[in-house]
Amino acid sequence: MSYKNVQIPDVGEKITIQNGKVNVPDFPILPFIEGDGIGPDIWRASQYVFDAAIRRAYGEKRKACWMEVYAGEKAYKNFGSWLPEETIQAFREFLVGIKGPLTTPIGGGMRSLNVALRKDLDLYVCLRPVRWFPDLPSPVKHPENVDMVIFRENTEDLYSGIEFEEGCPETKTFKQLLREYFPDEFAKVRFPETAGFGIKPISREGTERLVRAAIRWALANHRRNVTLVHKGNIMKYTEGAFRRWGYELAEREFGDRVYTWAQYDRTKSAKGEAAANAERDQALASGRMLVRDIIADIIFQDTLIRPKDYDVIATMNLNGDYLSDALAAQIGGVGIAPGGNINYETGVAVFEATHGTAPKYTNKNIVNPSSVLLSGEMMFRYMGWNEAADLIVQGIERSVIAKTVTNDFYRLMENAKLLSTSEFGQEIVRNMEPAAA
Ligand code: NAP
Repeated sequence: MSYKNVQIPDVGEKITIQNGKVNVPDFPILPFIEGDGIGPDIWRASQYVFDAAIRRAYGEKRKACWMEVYAGEKAYKNFGSWLPEETIQAFREFLVGIKGPLTTPIGGGMRSLNVALRKDLDLYVCLRPVRWFPDLPSPVKHPENVDMVIFRENTEDLYSGIEFEEGCPETKTFKQLLREYFPDEFAKVRFPETAGFGIKPISREGTERLVRAAIRWALANHRRNVTLVHKGNIMKYTEGAFRRWGYELAEREFGDRVYTWAQYDRTKSAKGEAAANAERDQALASGRMLVRDIIADIIFQDTLIRPKDYDVIATMNLNGDYLSDALAAQIGGVGIAPGGNINYETGVAVFEATHGTAPKYTNKNIVNPSSVLLSGEMMFRYMGWNEAADLIVQGIERSVIAKTVTNDFYRLMENAKLLSTSEFGQEIVRNMEPAAA
């Protein structure tokens, strides 16, 4: 496809996918969205770190060919569209890219650009690793026990955008239909005259591809367990179905490599608790991975009290949104939490900062670029460029241990040295050098 406003780099090739495996050339073209608010500050620092990590890891053999694509305020100002079609097309065509935060007005107005990107590209997994960096200030006593990876479903649930506003003609029609065809359900609406409505689609296909991705990832990375998080005790046909479909998928497709709590319950009903315990212990001792489930509200307590028990978490959109930010708080906040939005079938993956545009800090060059940096680390691992990814982690780790940090960490640390966003980037690059003997 030809592009009007996107400048394709003269040098570089497309990343492609074949039989579910991404093929990455040595000079891949990588689309990026700078982002709104603090986006330009953190992107500048991040690109500097990414280029340095690649140079240090591979010399002249590999290079990222960055290609700017537009979304948010910059796109609107220059091209009159908040999310130009060619931006979506560029991610579709070049497969792997990265983005900074984008503004989303609350209430009326345009739909969230992030949600639109995820939906239009069908990026059904929102991958959020949460792990602690040594010496990073944390509100919990043992942040070193936090090492979880969240697989949040990205295309369904209450985030589907099917909403009816109170007082609108469409809402009136919707209510009439509900009253006429489902009178018992309509009777459950406490204040029908003034209610707005939202619809929560959760499908078997949507659940299966998410749970499949989580289990595959967990097995490939030698994790001990996958936990399905749901509120199925209340929302039986959506969240309850997610749990059931998740277990069915686990047993059907990974039956020889996992042991499920559903299996445990069946054995317990048929043969008693002792037999179920013996079966479970034997399965886990033989190296099978545990697939279990937990109610959404209790996981917030459990992951605080017993973080070691949790490895990989698979859940729906809304639960995943809350949970990933709550878990990020344990390891230093959203300023350092990365994310990736991935479709493992098409190969399209957009990695992103998980925080917002923090408008009050725009152009002040004081915020932390680590969320974009660690999203870049995830992107490089997805591309198989693990050496560059390792250097980014090493650079951040050493900078934090040396207490040379940006303002968000500086105000939580004693005897730290305050750095600007760009200085922090330079410090990370310095810390990629081999440690002095
Ligand atoms: P926010 O931009 O994430 O900022 C909330 C607070 O988090 C900031 O005031 C700051 O805390 C801290 N923070 C965020 N990023 C930081 C960084 N890189 N370094 C250090 N501290 C950082 O959330 P918001 O104010 O609710 O949202 C602002 C806009 O961003 C909204 O339009 C929202 O829709 C959008 N948003 C976009 C995305 C996305 O693009 N993925 C995600 C979330 C929100 P202190 O005040 O304590 O310094």
